[in-house]
Amino acid sequence: MTSSLHGRNALVTGGGSGIGRACVRVLGAAGAKVHLVDVDPAAAAAVAEETGALAHVADLTDPAAVEGLPADVDILVNNAGIQHIAPIPDFPPETFAAIQQLMVTTPFLLMRRCLPAMYARGWGRIVNISSVHGLRASPHKAAYVAAKHGLEGLSKVAALEGAAHGVTSNCVDPGYVRTALVENQIADQARSRGIAERDVVDEVFLSRTAVKRLIEPEEVAALVRWLCGDDAGYLTGASIPVDGGWTAG
Ligand code: NAD
Repeated sequence: MTSSLHGRNALVTGGGSGIGRACVRVLGAAGAKVHLVDVDPAAAAAVAEETGALAHVADLTDPAAVEGLPADVDILVNNAGIQHIAPIPDFPPETFAAIQQLMVTTPFLLMRRCLPAMYARGWGRIVNISSVHGLRASPHKAAYVAAKHGLEGLSKVAALEGAAHGVTSNCVDPGYVRTALVENQIADQARSRGIAERDVVDEVFLSRTAVKRLIEPEEVAALVRWLCGDDAGYLTGASIPVDGGWTAG
């Protein structure tokens, strides 16, 4: 029996779409009061309307925006992320820097902001939505792979520091999930690899997975929800692949 999240406050970044939206839904359904943050006002408002979550519109590439977010939460889900596909010689340095800011520095700033209240209560859950690309590389994803590997390291440090305070920190490492982030890659992948768009899912996305389908966002959110419960208190510093067997091969 998974413990209820009644009385818990959660903050989910990138909660307007995809995995983040699924996390908002499942944490709210488990009883948590959920704050969602997204740069897209319409998406944030729609999820808030549907779930009763509180929407915060912010561009998380801006460190000042983090200062306006709630600090007194029990659960922090670092989920907001973007992708850019290009070989290293063509990779725009400003895009590389923005991806590190959003996907490594912002999770650090949010941990820095939220950990004191978790430590004071002696309980907390940090869940970092990493990726199979936190454990493996692919060509043309220099910024994304570097950021996810960085997030993996940050998560482990948070686990070691938080253990004495009842705070766990883990990474969830999905393969390709059926979300806008993946749909938006199809044209870029086809162009950069010189293949037809209709072949991208089978030849690129599923080439290294044993389970020949994309994962649904709800399947990722179900693991996040379990990590946020009391049953998961001994699991920390871990990276959990939900990758259809990709990293087993
Ligand atoms: P998505 O594009 O469906 O949703 C991402 C959300 O983040 C959007 O609502 C977007 O508006 C928001 N966002 C983007 N930039 C932001 C910013 N600067 N400030 C605030 N919000 C911002 O993507 P998704 O697939 O649900 O991805 C969520 C996370 O899961 C990302 O960290 C991604 O790297 C990771 N992930 C996704 C996949 C996949 O296959 N889709 C696989 C592994 C890991």
